[in-house]
Amino acid sequence: MARPLHASVTGTTYEYSHLVARLSLEEKVHLLTGETAFTLPGNDRIGLAPLAFSDGPTGVRGLKFAGGDAVALFPNATLVAASWDDAVAEQVGTMLAEEAQRQHIHVVLGPTINLHRSPLGGRLFEAYSEDPYLTGRTAVGYVRGLQGKGTAACLKHLVANESETLRNFVDSRVSETALREIYLLPFEMVVQDVNAWSMMSAYNDVNGTPATEHDQIQNSIVKDEWGWDGAIMSDWFATKRTGASANGGLDLVMPGPDGPWGERLVAAVQAGEVTEATVDGHVSRLLRLADRTGALAPAGAPPKKWAEGLPAVDSPERKEQLLRIAARGMTVVANSGVLPLSGTGSVALIGRHALATVNMGGGSAQVNPPYQSTIAEGMTTRLGNRLVIADGVGVRTRPVPADPAYLTDPATGTPGMEVRLLAADGTELSRRHEDASSITVGWDDGLPQVPAKAVLTATLSNESGPVMLGGIGAGTWAVAADDGTALHAELVLAGKDPGEGMLRPPAFAEVVALRAGSTVTATVALGTANRRESLLQDASLGLSEESHLLTIGAVGQLALVATPVPIPDDDLLRNAEEAASAAETAVVVVGLTEEQETEAADKQTLVLPGRQDELVYRVAAVAKRTVVVVNSATPVLMPWLEQVDAVVIAGLPGQEGGNAVAAVLTGELEPTGRLVSSYPRADGAAPAWEVEPDEDLRLTYAEGTSVGYRGFYAGNAPTPLFWFGHGLGYGSWAYNSVQLIPNNGAELLLSVDVTNTSERYSRETVQVYLDPAELDQPVRLVGYAGVDVPAGTTVTVHVACDERLRRRWNEATGKWESLAAGAQLILARGLGDVRARVSLT
Ligand code: BGC
Repeated sequence: MARPLHASVTGTTYEYSHLVARLSLEEKVHLLTGETAFTLPGNDRIGLAPLAFSDGPTGVRGLKFAGGDAVALFPNATLVAASWDDAVAEQVGTMLAEEAQRQHIHVVLGPTINLHRSPLGGRLFEAYSEDPYLTGRTAVGYVRGLQGKGTAACLKHLVANESETLRNFVDSRVSETALREIYLLPFEMVVQDVNAWSMMSAYNDVNGTPATEHDQIQNSIVKDEWGWDGAIMSDWFATKRTGASANGGLDLVMPGPDGPWGERLVAAVQAGEVTEATVDGHVSRLLRLADRTGALAPAGAPPKKWAEGLPAVDSPERKEQLLRIAARGMTVVANSGVLPLSGTGSVALIGRHALATVNMGGGSAQVNPPYQSTIAEGMTTRLGNRLVIADGVGVRTRPVPADPAYLTDPATGTPGMEVRLLAADGTELSRRHEDASSITVGWDDGLPQVPAKAVLTATLSNESGPVMLGGIGAGTWAVAADDGTALHAELVLAGKDPGEGMLRPPAFAEVVALRAGSTVTATVALGTANRRESLLQDASLGLSEESHLLTIGAVGQLALVATPVPIPDDDLLRNAEEAASAAETAVVVVGLTEEQETEAADKQTLVLPGRQDELVYRVAAVAKRTVVVVNSATPVLMPWLEQVDAVVIAGLPGQEGGNAVAAVLTGELEPTGRLVSSYPRADGAAPAWEVEPDEDLRLTYAEGTSVGYRGFYAGNAPTPLFWFGHGLGYGSWAYNSVQLIPNNGAELLLSVDVTNTSERYSRETVQVYLDPAELDQPVRLVGYAGVDVPAGTTVTVHVACDERLRRRWNEATGKWESLAAGAQLILARGLGDVRARVSLT
């Protein structure tokens, strides 16, 4: 019988060993692998409810990978971090907890606290910053908000997972010093400051050992040294071997129901390779996670009560929150005074990203939002007939799923399509309406068997004339329209990522002439090849039968492509010039899309895709004043910087993104963002660049602890275009009376008088960096504090310097030691704008 112990802050209520003791080995092991794509099995006898997990960092998507219910799309991680404000991060966590509660989700798979090491990393939009301290503090706020409402956070991905190329096979080679001082630090900060109830082990190897099997990291450092009592789950399909992972500190294998544990783990225990006590340890940690999230209610205890009356995803309350948070992170990096837009002059808004604003990145952080506001809509609301809108050049090279509003399901007459899934013998496994134009198959569709065929049917809202028609997803495609049009394609997964069927599926599209309102049927014979076999045969990966690499076959995401035929870029460029030359101000919106900012692939360049640079040059050449809005989370090159009057980094701003950009441009809301990563001047001009592993599949973190601005400051790369921490806002600032203030031997405390010398209210973020006396120690951010200051007012700001940044790891002794005296503290608005230096003797 479970005995209540105590109700602590962490919610520990039951003594788990009593519950574990009631389970057979088989029952215990069964609990440790997912039951479905995003749930764990429950066990009635011990009062354990199935735990539900959901991605992720930018919204709580629910139990389906694609489609699913509409959920709130949050501003992406870089924008949240760019506010440099613990309260914003905490509010995001609280709101995510509400989103989770509404969907009965126990664990949110976020925050992503890997770092922006090379700017080529495809997934950086999901992570906070190049700096471990800003990352750690933002994550602490997020986890505090989330777990304060009883929803578990999952810190991911443990560890050294800063890029995506060959992510399942790459071996990140990192010194222990860099691991401790840089890559593990955000994890350590969250564990110490607020505790996170779970973590996710990464796909990659770390110094020759798979992260899921990493005894030193998972057991010795995280669990023993830090005394952390949470549960570590694998990244999805990341677990490679049975005994090594169970012994190496992994507690849970995701997803399921198949996987490398199950019967194999039972056998490993029976063979003495894994002790039953080790399995019991994993189960105890699982039960603690369940207990903390209300999923454990042994005999007689009432089941979890989920919160009710939560704000709807498109409620005024959510809109206000999402708008404000997005705007807070937006960062003005250049401004000759043209912003905020004032007066009554006409504005030409130009660019594909203005009309189709990209509000999220690609991969598992995607959600299905109720709506996505575009910059064109936001600006139209605010400027009315002062505004002229012109489309810009193309920004994508791959076909995209049809806009569901362009499709009608002929069976229901509502937007979307009809989906039929068939077995190999033609038996219909399911027939349903789908609001979206993409689905997943063979993964989270709840069917007893993987379908052999999918049939997608929709009536198009096309005028008579050409349409881009095709499909996305591996398989043999036959797309037929009711006027006799027939297309065929054989689409094969290209890369080596087992998750590629979900995250980077192959696609085709052709221009076809269709009569108005054609009905289109796409029949897809799904690939059934087992990816594991082909990966095992690929000599460059060096895999062996013993690595129980589980793959998901050639199934995954399927989507119907049906879009209007694009207008040629040359015509769009001419239209843009015309609009720009006739207006008082031209606002050009450029950016990246999910082709660059995505899970499962890295970028090759920071150059804006397509002819967007040419668009900016041509607009700037004819416009009186030019403002550029960059709709991307991570750095792009700006060769035209000297030709334009202002640049705003808008990030990937979530469902209220377009409104937030418009509110910032018009000065309705203050863009208080400071950059979370340095912007290099050119491709390659960064302290860490390569993301491609060598032929031994090693990716060496050769820059050590000199990541990002630390390396730029040391002269390891040409001075960046914009420094980490840079951001102008609409205020201007004077710093006076800087002094160290006595703090009873506790952490260093600095005080500074900050005066807002501008004519409007604004917010300043005081940043304190430490320049150590030791020559081998890079400069680093050690503290920051934000303050709201009315025009013409002075406020005294105190900034505490975190002690965890004033130590160094000694590899010889395996211990932390303090940095030497004689260092300097630097007050800077990014290290390109130093305001004061204070010596520490
Ligand atoms: C990602 C994780 C994510 C998981 C579940 C993986 O591909 O790396 O971050 O939580 O999928 O969707």
